[in-house]
Amino acid sequence: MAKFCLECGSRLMPFQEGGTERLRCERCGWVYYLNPVPASAVVVAKGEEVLLVKRAVEPRSGYWSLPSGFVEYNESPLEAAVREAKEETGIDVELTGLLNVVFVNEFPEKHCVLIIYSGRPVRGDVTNDDLRADDDVDDARFFPFNALPDELAFRSHGEAIKQFLRKQRGERER
Ligand SMILES: [Zn+2]
Repeated sequence: MAKFCLECGSRLMPFQEGGTERLRCERCGWVYYLNPVPASAVVVAKGEEVLLVKRAVEPRSGYWSLPSGFVEYNESPLEAAVREAKEETGIDVELTGLLNVVFVNEFPEKHCVLIIYSGRPVRGDVTNDDLRADDDVDDARFFPFNALPDELAFRSHGEAIKQFLRKQRGERER
């Protein structure tokens, strides 16, 4: 949360605008509009396995999550999903669909709108040996859907995997 004006550096003071409390610069009137940040995640499936990464940064360092990250200013959420998967695991993935869009507010310091895609490795024959964990993770691995880590970093990621499986089951039965 900013304390000082991004335009002139003066102190920000609370004020009410349309029933919402915001911060405004006491000197130049600049208003700090606080919005949730868009982030992308991807459920990369290969047969009966899903690609997870072990986080090496806070929040939730040491816990496994989907490849994910914040959308950069000059890219689309789709590009962000493909880029994050490549940066964190070293492999190219292609997106196969939009799974869900959810509001994540479990971390008070950064609320986000998480756009979750399904995807698959471009090369169908990749194995754990092809994965190269990098960026803000220190491990990457395909986990069988029925043997996932006990607790994932983010509730929303666990729910996305369940949703992916429900959808896949539905498509198989059709
Ligand atoms: Zn100002």
